[in-house]
Amino acid sequence: MNKRNPIEDLAHLRHEFGEHGGVNMSIEASTTFTVIDPETMPELFEGRKGPDKGCYLYGRHFNPTVYNLGRQMAALEGTEAGYCAASGMAAISAAIIGLCKSGDEVVASATVYGGTYAFLHDFLPAKTGIKTTFVDITDLDAVANAIGPRTKLVFTESVANPTLRVADIPRLADITHERGALLVVDNTFSPLILRPAGLGADIVVHSITKFISGASDVIAGAICGTESFIGELMDLHMGPLMLLGPTMDPHLASSISLRIPHLPLRMAAHGNRALEFSKRLDSLGLNVCYPGLPQHPDHALFNELRSAKYGYGGVFTLDVGDEDTANDLMSHLQNEQRFGYLAVSLGYFDTLMSCSGSSTSSEMSDEGKDTAGISQGLIRVSIGYTGTLEQRWAQLLAALKETGIV
Ligand code: PLP
Repeated sequence: MNKRNPIEDLAHLRHEFGEHGGVNMSIEASTTFTVIDPETMPELFEGRKGPDKGCYLYGRHFNPTVYNLGRQMAALEGTEAGYCAASGMAAISAAIIGLCKSGDEVVASATVYGGTYAFLHDFLPAKTGIKTTFVDITDLDAVANAIGPRTKLVFTESVANPTLRVADIPRLADITHERGALLVVDNTFSPLILRPAGLGADIVVHSITKFISGASDVIAGAICGTESFIGELMDLHMGPLMLLGPTMDPHLASSISLRIPHLPLRMAAHGNRALEFSKRLDSLGLNVCYPGLPQHPDHALFNELRSAKYGYGGVFTLDVGDEDTANDLMSHLQNEQRFGYLAVSLGYFDTLMSCSGSSTSSEMSDEGKDTAGISQGLIRVSIGYTGTLEQRWAQLLAALKETGIV
């Protein structure tokens, strides 16, 4: 099991200069690139020359600044290559469409972000004939049984949104590979904490929008994998990133690349606070779920797989029983206590809270939500690190009292 520290890999990459000796890489704002020698043009179109040789063609194909961020994402995930896209959904859809053709099949975790679920459950079969079988990803026998001769890939989130169940990536990789398929992992909830490729995954995708961005100000995504897979995504005839065109803007790539150096500090800060708050909520007898708590069903597995320096993640859930109580609590937390925001998404420096069942998991069927344990009273909390811990705890406790929960 490869648990190399990504920070070391990233540190090597940072030593590049901007065009005028700047400490940051320059932003390459051009959409098109000259060739000195006319013979280079067909070589670029035939894929014989590309960014690995310092040759660029057109910004929707490869851009040097976006390419540089892709290299940082690859270093973060310990993969050969990486490239960025305009959103997490662009990364997920391009990876899946890149691996499957019409009539192929996917096996996916039944508990994934609602947009991913809708893409697999509704969009893909209707538009492409690619069918998905959903399984409980923690039931390894069910995963093995679901993989058939047409299955091209198994898709899971490393830490599931919003149930926080942890995927056993090494065993899933074995099961998947033995049956001739590939394992694709969405590592949005656990950058740095888990490095799925080192644990056996073939492709890792991210919604950079969340922890990697850290400021809830950009929508962005990344795909990390082999050099040849990233090349296929950019193929001029069949590449989904090239042809569907979810291109990342180079200005955004530059902005994101300046946030990666402090991602370790931010992940640790999110994790420390989430652990402390979930312990305190647990001691009040509340129904809190966090992989850092010993009673979490995957606590031991997570300890085995994770890099301990970066904590257990910045998200916990609190199940207060019903949606009215959840709404009451969230409005007190936002409007009376100023504890955080009643908003979807995660990975922000301030706290974000939402009821998953009626928001980011609403695409799932009621039966699917019941099986996954996503009740209407389940609040997903992405815990921020602003303010002091005691100040925020006092606000949380006050709102719990005001709403009669404790
Ligand atoms: N993956 C996970 C686990 C998510 O939670 C989300 C969004 O919430 C996405 C992917 C989609 O990312 P984006 O909004 O950047 O397209």
